Amino acid sequence: MFFEELERLRQDNLFRQIRDRGPACTTAKILINGIEHINFSSNDYLGLANHPSITEAAKKALDKYGFGSGASRLLSGGTELHGELERKIAEFKGAEAALIFNSGYTANISAIPAIAGEGDVIFSDELNHASIIDGCRLSRAKKAIYRHRDVEHLSELIKKENGKRKIVITDTVFSMDGDIAPLKEISDICQRHNAILYIDDAHGTGVLGNGKGALSHFGIKPGHKIIQMGTFSKALGSYGAFIAADKNVTDWLTNTARGFIYSTALPACIFAASIEALKILQNDLSLVKKLWQNRERLFKGIKDLKFDTIDSETPIIPVVVGDTNTTLKFSELLMSHNIYAPAIRPPTVKVPRLRVTVTAAHTEDDIDELLKVLLFAK
Ligand SMILES: *Cc1c(COP(=O)(O)O)cnc(C)c1O
Repeated sequence: MFFEELERLRQDNLFRQIRDRGPACTTAKILINGIEHINFSSNDYLGLANHPSITEAAKKALDKYGFGSGASRLLSGGTELHGELERKIAEFKGAEAALIFNSGYTANISAIPAIAGEGDVIFSDELNHASIIDGCRLSRAKKAIYRHRDVEHLSELIKKENGKRKIVITDTVFSMDGDIAPLKEISDICQRHNAILYIDDAHGTGVLGNGKGALSHFGIKPGHKIIQMGTFSKALGSYGAFIAADKNVTDWLTNTARGFIYSTALPACIFAASIEALKILQNDLSLVKKLWQNRERLFKGIKDLKFDTIDSETPIIPVVVGDTNTTLKFSELLMSHNIYAPAIRPPTVKVPRLRVTVTAAHTEDDIDELLKVLLFAK
């Protein structure tokens, strides 16, 4: 089965393989086949995934609550930690309430079909994350796809379309290009047309707006018609996701979002880790500051080498080096110098690139090492 299909992928250099890593050394280093590599592929932007007090919080909760949660939240799977995290993340995001989902993927494929259905229109950026695309497909709403970050195009479409409900959905930071959605303009358009704004702040939380996320970055007040989705799995170094919005919205999701209702709750120890991560982020801005210092150092270095970085504005830096083949060769050459920066190929992206992510955990030496090998590879 699938023999020919797989063969075609291999021939087109599009066959993907899982690379399992060994135990973590630090966030910036990974063991691949027993060899330590500098890791430029992690979304653990603040280096929290191995933070001692987070692991400690998880261990304590593990002893107290055991591991498995045993049931969905609506049955008996929830603990007081679930509620505590929801209150804390809602407050952090300036929203009335929050609801936790088991992952960012689950949040999007569950919440979008719960808030949009037949007769509604979803306006979606063409480069939105796959989980948003799948969520839109699962809803029975009409889809209007606007060109990437193109507010004129969005404006045109939103004037033309008539639906019971209009919902604009966008990533805040785009996960492959590292550019930022023009949220100010988008939220103005939403207000003018009485549309709901649904943002996916997976890469914005802990990164933009002093860590508070994209709304804070743009100085947009989290209003009535704004639904903020975000994850604990990236900058917060933990796992799981949330929707922060009006209480009516989270109540509605609690009653209708299928990925929430029909799935076992995450283990309590994961909530304990997320609560601790949020506390660290709120008490110590030095990690966010370090992240951006590192980002500026690496970005400037890559620019000095005259590589195309598309429109990167964040710690996600695409480095365009040529076609799929060349990109794979570059990635392999980096590997041979013990640097891991993955080649991202079609169909994930149109333009093949190395996807480099830099974190607060990298040292200046780590960054300079990558720049040295990029210069050599050029
Ligand atoms: C990673 C990501 C998700 C999925 O989150 P997980 O918690 O990893 O399932 C959703 N949206 C965007 C924009 C992402 O980058």
